[in-house]
Amino acid sequence: MNRQSADISRFQTEIGQLDLPPRLLLGPGPSNAHPRVLQAIGMRQVGHLDPRFIELMNEIQELLRYTWQTENRVTIPVSGTGSAAMEASLANLVEPDDVVLVGVNGYFGERLVDMAGRYGADVRRIDKPWGEVFDADELRSALEEHRPAILALVHAETSTGARQPLEEAGKLCREHDCLLLADTVTSLGGVPLLIDEWGVDAAYSGSQKCLSCPPGISMLTLSKRAMEKFDQRKTKVPNWYLDMSMVGKYWGSERTYHHTAPINMNYALREALRLVAEEGLDARWERHKKNAALLWDGLKDLGLECHVAPEYRLPTLTTVKVPDGVDSKEVSQILLSEYNIEIAAGLGELAGKVWRIGLMGFNSRPENVELLLATLENVLERNQ
Ligand code: PLP
Repeated sequence: MNRQSADISRFQTEIGQLDLPPRLLLGPGPSNAHPRVLQAIGMRQVGHLDPRFIELMNEIQELLRYTWQTENRVTIPVSGTGSAAMEASLANLVEPDDVVLVGVNGYFGERLVDMAGRYGADVRRIDKPWGEVFDADELRSALEEHRPAILALVHAETSTGARQPLEEAGKLCREHDCLLLADTVTSLGGVPLLIDEWGVDAAYSGSQKCLSCPPGISMLTLSKRAMEKFDQRKTKVPNWYLDMSMVGKYWGSERTYHHTAPINMNYALREALRLVAEEGLDARWERHKKNAALLWDGLKDLGLECHVAPEYRLPTLTTVKVPDGVDSKEVSQILLSEYNIEIAAGLGELAGKVWRIGLMGFNSRPENVELLLATLENVLERNQ
């Protein structure tokens, strides 16, 4: 038998039809996609410059503006996961030697530091222990000390479960002639977020968290102030794929080809955003809040303690302390292998100290909370 036919017979016998376990994804994301979103992905393709697709692109931008509560003209999907949109915001807004101040209170603040540095920024950082947030006085004195061109904050730190208030930050940035960049990956569609009212100049997010769409597409919004900085660039955007001067022409009125849009992911995103609009933002935020409160009460009844203070706790991602003597990895492994429930371990400073439980979008439902609490109680009893 030659090598080719040996491979073929192995493929036929060993690599069977795709069959996946029915996981309930209650970790930091991806969360389970909404069935309507999965249905949308499977719809037949049209070309990426087809008149129907162009219409659909307009619909997505309109829905995204609603979801982000913004009138920003540049409010568009980005091809790739949340990190692509993160990269797009930095690649387009940072010029070499710009001072970029990053609030680091978790893993994704560190990622912002790394990325901004790669685009030549003079990166400054303010740090807080993981699980805490920056208050307005801390931000004001850091802005005065560093005089940055951009302040970058993570609205919803998925690594810690902390919600960074942004209400004051936008105002402070205007007073200090600086742009406010916000990571809203774990807040968009799950946590109150008012881009225009709060004066956020640039924000990015991902599809696979509170929007209940599979990973693979992300989104970016840029304010007029951000676009002014972009328009005054003296240097070329150093990332070809994410350069808004070209991508913007495809998503704007010119519709010129730049790269092939991930067509079916855009169908999925459109349906995910339609679901947000159908429910209404207020109702959606309230649902996330209610189900998180149910989780927090239930964890307390099990004798477990949350890591983040209640006023800054994210309804979409809860970090819960691992009790002494319990092997955190073993518990999450049992949840996965025996009950098909995914939760995640802590990262960085919180490794081994917390579990991370996500209640995002379609998954933020009381029956999921009850199921997780009952299962966790059972597994913890066995583990102690
Ligand atoms: N920012 C935050 C707060 C995140 O939680 C994530 C992903 O978990 C990202 C950025 C990066 O997104 P992705 O993993 O989709 O590239």
